[in-house]
Amino acid sequence: MSYGDIRDKLADDLYLSGAAVQDKYAKDWSEAAAHMPEVVLRPRTLDDLSQMLRLAQDHEQRLVTQGGRTGLAGGATPQQSEWALSVERMNKVLEIDPIGQTITVEAGVSLQTIQETAEAHGLMFPLDLGARGTATAGGIAATNAGGNQVIQYGVTRQLILGMVAVLPDGQIMAQSNQLLKNNAGFDLKQLLIGTEGVLGVIASVTFRLFPKRDVVRTAFCAAKDFDCVTALLFHAQKQLVGLSSFEVLWDDYMEEVVSLTGKAELFDRRYPFTVLIEVEQASDNDDVEQALHVAIEKGIIEDAVIAQNQTQAATFWSYRDAIAEILSDLAPNVNFDIGIPVPKMKDFTQDVRAALQAEFPGIRQVTFGHIGDGNLHLSCTTGDDNDQVPIENLVFGKATAIGGTITAEHGIGMLKKPWLKDCRTQEEIALMQRLKAMLDPADILNKGRVI
Ligand SMILES: Cc1cc2nc3c(=O)[nH]c(=O)nc-3n(C[C@H](O)[C@H](O)[C@H](O)COP(=O)(O)OP(=O)(O)OC[C@H]3O[C@@H](n4cnc5c(N)ncnc54)[C@H](O)[C@@H]3O)c2cc1C
Repeated sequence: MSYGDIRDKLADDLYLSGAAVQDKYAKDWSEAAAHMPEVVLRPRTLDDLSQMLRLAQDHEQRLVTQGGRTGLAGGATPQQSEWALSVERMNKVLEIDPIGQTITVEAGVSLQTIQETAEAHGLMFPLDLGARGTATAGGIAATNAGGNQVIQYGVTRQLILGMVAVLPDGQIMAQSNQLLKNNAGFDLKQLLIGTEGVLGVIASVTFRLFPKRDVVRTAFCAAKDFDCVTALLFHAQKQLVGLSSFEVLWDDYMEEVVSLTGKAELFDRRYPFTVLIEVEQASDNDDVEQALHVAIEKGIIEDAVIAQNQTQAATFWSYRDAIAEILSDLAPNVNFDIGIPVPKMKDFTQDVRAALQAEFPGIRQVTFGHIGDGNLHLSCTTGDDNDQVPIENLVFGKATAIGGTITAEHGIGMLKKPWLKDCRTQEEIALMQRLKAMLDPADILNKGRVI
């Protein structure tokens, strides 16, 4: 596709070219090398989007779909000769239904806007992650994002009821479902969820909402070893039905938070593990105090501190959200979001951390994760870009050898493609390739991502 084709067929305000293309379109949040796209397509409506994809297919112009570009797998970073397709102007909340407890939004609406719109109606959208202000509805759907409350509400896939998407040939696939149960035919939206924009462009999504519970209790717990962490998980799940977050911070993570941000220590001394828990309650009772008191009595945890108000709860979460600052400071970093079966997590983390230290003396490591979901984050740096692939080989090799996955959240994108074969079978990958070839025979959309 050339500028001429665009000028003739698209209205002027539907694309940027030349000097009007700002740096922000050149990369996502990952370490993938930035590449400035020549043109940025910016649809306002579903029909614009459909027309653009038809044009791109007809002229075999490669496109990469961009949401908020907070992705950490390089999927939204343009490659050579690719144009960006940004859904940033498809940013309307289309409908909120307080009785059916659903919200329908265009793909470019931010996660935070979804959360705030739901809250204004006494409802709650349970997906939450550090990039909430910028990550979009389309992006969280395309990456099947996880986050801080998966333990209670599941990943994004479990929160999506309906979707309108445009296939690479411009065809609109409208599955405008608002029902929790609907078994009429294939659930086609699943083709677009978690497939990282390879099979189509998401135009709008209908998400499930939940009643907002009146009381949310947030606490930090200190544990002396990983067995105590898993014991606390079991104890909290049993005693606290509204347990919605269980975030584990290793001592190396706390060290970075304290030294980098100047935040205060949480306890009178540093413990090997700090666990941030959040519990949703229907009323203001002392269930959390009691459960944590019992945990201390039983020797499961050493100490605990419970937020006394919302401001303090926000301060607690700021320790967890400090990861954005830590990642910037660790650059160039290698950032893992692996999945490890919880029973194998203790040995795995000990083994991998020791192996990294032995192979790369002086490496800086930060370990944390949504451990209730078996999702471990490990970020590290030696300061040398050349160490990236050897570090990845070491960690992915150990993770896949014990039945783990190379990505529990961020997806494959461009960056983890070489290791997909280590956790999916040849036959599975061949089927993914057949689906791609069927829906996108000219291979114009997000070429080279995932498969
Ligand atoms: C500080 C920070 C914290 C994070 N925490 C988490 C976390 O806890 N859990 C988690 O899962 N992720 C996390 N992430 C990663 C990231 O926020 C998520 O992957 C998010 O879902 C990406 O949304 P986005 O709109 O920015 O997508 P982008 O980065 O723009 O795109 C991501 C992928 O989706 C595709 N895509 C985007 N929009 C569309 C669309 N409309 N249709 C089709 N394909 C599309 C892109 O082509 C690309 O392949 C974090 C990132 C940061 C920076």
